Amino acid sequence: MFLEPRTGEGSRGWIEVICGPMFSGKTEELLRRLRRAKIAQMKLAIFKPKIDQRYGQGKIVSHDANYFPSLEVAHSAQVLKQGAFAQLVAVDEAQFFDEGIVDVVEKLSLAGVRVIVTGLDMDYLGKPFGPMPQLMAIANYVTKIHAICVRCGQPGTHSYRLAQGDARVMIGQVEAYEARCRNCFSEGMVSRAAN
Ligand SMILES: [Zn+2]
Repeated sequence: MFLEPRTGEGSRGWIEVICGPMFSGKTEELLRRLRRAKIAQMKLAIFKPKIDQRYGQGKIVSHDANYFPSLEVAHSAQVLKQGAFAQLVAVDEAQFFDEGIVDVVEKLSLAGVRVIVTGLDMDYLGKPFGPMPQLMAIANYVTKIHAICVRCGQPGTHSYRLAQGDARVMIGQVEAYEARCRNCFSEGMVSRAAN
């Protein structure tokens, strides 16, 4: 799908990325921005990958039960198709999208859409997660937020998996993870490898 780039003052889009580990408050930060956009009466379109069914379908929910309706889509092409008519497109849990999401986000921003992407920057091995590195690279604004390391109280940058298993997709099981700083994450991985 080709979108005609919009031209003229006040019509330019851009890309914002909110990233960090689990328990860092990415959803709260997204909701904060969405609430402001709603007050400004912007036309919103919110997308999630079909894989995430943590809090039931079709909502971006915060812990205080505020929510915005979202569309669960299986492929990034649907974000372009259905997001092209919005003024603000939010893509939640972007790490689980296919690589095509990078191109989609860029096309939307060229067409004048403000795009907000949230996602885990690193997986449970501490490696860059899915399309997140590319999205962070092309973004106009990157907000990297932190949790608190449950072991030492330093800023938590990593999502440490307590449960065994090696599927990257083990979400919906928040209790299977804890936030750790890089050192405590590394110590856990080393002692696990030794056992
Ligand atoms: Zn620590």
